Amino acid sequence: MKIHEYQAKEIFSRYRIPVTKEVVCYTVEEAVSAASQLGLPVVIKAQVHAGGRGKAGGVKLARTAEEVPQLAGKILGMDIKGYTVEKVLVAQGVKFGSEFYVGLTIDRNSKSVVFMASSEGGVEIEEVAKDNPEAIHKFVIEPELGLTPFLARKIAFALFQDIALVKQGADLFQKLYKIFMDTDASLVEINPLVITEEGQLLALDGKMNFDDNALFRQTAIEALNEPTEDEKKEIAAKDKGLTYIRLDGNIGCMVNGAGLAMATLDLIKHFGGEPANFLDIGGSSNPQKVIDAMNLILSDKNVKVVMINIFGGITRCDDVAKGLIIALEKIKVSVPIVVRLSGTNAKEGLEILKEANLPIVETMSEAAQKAIALCK
Ligand code: GDP
Ligand code: MN
Repeated sequence: MKIHEYQAKEIFSRYRIPVTKEVVCYTVEEAVSAASQLGLPVVIKAQVHAGGRGKAGGVKLARTAEEVPQLAGKILGMDIKGYTVEKVLVAQGVKFGSEFYVGLTIDRNSKSVVFMASSEGGVEIEEVAKDNPEAIHKFVIEPELGLTPFLARKIAFALFQDIALVKQGADLFQKLYKIFMDTDASLVEINPLVITEEGQLLALDGKMNFDDNALFRQTAIEALNEPTEDEKKEIAAKDKGLTYIRLDGNIGCMVNGAGLAMATLDLIKHFGGEPANFLDIGGSSNPQKVIDAMNLILSDKNVKVVMINIFGGITRCDDVAKGLIIALEKIKVSVPIVVRLSGTNAKEGLEILKEANLPIVETMSEAAQKAIALCK
């Protein structure tokens, strides 16, 4: 789960990490009044769940009173990587020298939290990571010890020469680590971390991602969730007993069992096709589930064909076939369907489908190949 910059900085603030003075605004009028309250210049920043806003034109410095409504108007409603900007952060403009990067994430190789620090922060950090990875220092944090004062100072010495900054940095890094642990985060980043003219470290930007599996014990964090349209569909599917994940392809898949669903996606890929979704309808044989599943698949306009792959274990194939027929009577399906049934009561199921003139195939491979052919 992701949160916005302003929400991350609110958390930073609670742990006494210095952040810019700022106001969240939903309209141009709010931005104007925020700017007059904060004083010029201000930085106007798109609040969307996407990185690289600066490069996409979503971060602008307004130096004059005229520029505030102009820039706020431009950024509000802007599209950044598929996200529409519905709110902006109006932040006090700050003068600074260098930009630093600090971040915490989980490193699976060392099975530890790792602290990353670089004196080459700013909007080009991805380039630095790619072209000059040694400019990003990495420090593995021993789970038993946590971020000790010693290690925090060592990290700070990698960034700063001035002892006053090293002290501030070490203190800030320990707070950042505490935030990471307390909130079950999977990523915490400050980019850029800057030094103000008064010699204070200041978080100009903040980013936090969280472990979805820990949200049950992070109710305050979960309350900040703003699911995308796709995620809303996934949540609605979960309520109906379906596990649905949207993908980018055009072959809709309806499968029972997560393992078979994964195998189905692999097989489609193997034969050169692109699955439109992962969908596990689970172990029951309730026709309503098949109807819900079909509606879900067809709500994706990219879907050109639906491949149904059922292995009857607890689920009986004849029940699935009946469900399918009921579903097809209730909803208009304008795309071709390919069905593969095998296992418990497969024979009965196939008879039912044959009577309804539904195309059936013998094997999974055949089903995948036929679905791919129907897409073309
Ligand atoms: P990102 O592109 O999504 O990472 O957005 P950031 O909030 O990090 O802003 C991008 C860049 O804008 C920063 O790296 C800074 O160079 C610049 N910037 C952001 N806030 C300020 C500010 O208050 N003053 C000045 N002069 N530049 C800023
Ligand atoms: Mn940034």
